[in-house]
Amino acid sequence: KVDGMGLSAELKWDAHGLMPAIVQDAASKEVLMLAYMNEESLKLSVESGETWFWSRSRKALWHKGATSGNTQHILSMKYDCDADTLLVLVEPQGPACHTGKYTCFNEEVALAGAGEGLDAQKTSGIADGGMTALSGQGRFEILGELERLIAEREAERPEGAYTTYLFDKGVDKILKKVGEEAAEVIIAAKNRDKDELRYEASDLIYHLLVLLREQKLPLDDVLRELGNRHNKVKPESQES
Ligand code: AMP
Ligand code: ZN
Ligand code: ZN
Ligand code: ZN
Repeated sequence: KVDGMGLSAELKWDAHGLMPAIVQDAASKEVLMLAYMNEESLKLSVESGETWFWSRSRKALWHKGATSGNTQHILSMKYDCDADTLLVLVEPQGPACHTGKYTCFNEEVALAGAGEGLDAQKTSGIADGGMTALSGQGRFEILGELERLIAEREAERPEGAYTTYLFDKGVDKILKKVGEEAAEVIIAAKNRDKDELRYEASDLIYHLLVLLREQKLPLDDVLRELGNRHNKVKPESQES
């Protein structure tokens, strides 16, 4: 770990004194944008804990969110093996893109052999009754996709979306829903009604993911916690 005065000398700035900085959502892991930092903007970023860049078009320092309000709170920063690229993990306060999108990366590039690849498998999830969620990239891939979609809804707040409604209402509404859905899971289980339980368990998991996002707790952290416990479990210590 390098900081303070040593950092700038450690890094390989390009001929214009710039360095690409990839900005990633620390919770959802979504790549949000790429911009350039110079020495001054890096210093401002490190000191303020918010992203600052060098705007190549405006030839000026740029505090991300200064006009839009969509600042990015920095949780951690890394640079790569040859010290010519920065990775900034942030908690975004709104859309990263000036178009109002959660992420700048929304345009799909068509690949040769499209129709046979991973993407075709993904799309076929509609045709195979959604079973893709249970195969291919792993059984629980849908949790990561939901986490990402919820993060997008939080940033973009599209009108009419239920997730927008929850974030607009705020944490108390989300907490109330988690409680309600937990109670509905209990009722469904008491009724021994598998269809009802499937619905209510899905409701509960969805609302729990919304709550995790509201609290800025990555799903990864929860899954890691489960993994840690699992690896520690011994037959004699299984009480809790
Ligand atoms: P903001 O920094 O969000 O207040 O936006 C101020 C201006 O910066 C915008 O009008 C855009 O010109 C530019 N801008 C904001 N976000 C991006 C981005 N992700 N990529 C490129 N330019 C951006
Ligand atoms: Zn590199
Ligand atoms: Zn953009
Ligand atoms: Zn329900």
